[in-house]
Amino acid sequence: MITLVLSIWFTLLGLLLVLECVLLLRQQWSRLTRKVRCPWCWRRWHLMRWYPRRLSSSICCAHERLLLKQSAARRAQRLTQMGG
Ligand SMILES: [Zn+2]
Repeated sequence: MITLVLSIWFTLLGLLLVLECVLLLRQQWSRLTRKVRCPWCWRRWHLMRWYPRRLSSSICCAHERLLLKQSAARRAQRLTQMGG
């Protein structure tokens, strides 16, 4: 009797764990696909040689922030050069 209860318990626990994993994956899916398609990430891991050409490239959040920061710095530099 106790083994039956234990097995039901562990089955429920396993189901809950799987459900949680599925929910987490669904939540993070768009971020994950953006990351997979980001050419900057591929270059960072030295995998640019294997980057599939037919993949429509998009940029991940981290590299988007980085590029925005770089372009802002360039713009500021240009403005200071113009001003002085
Ligand atoms: Zn990236």
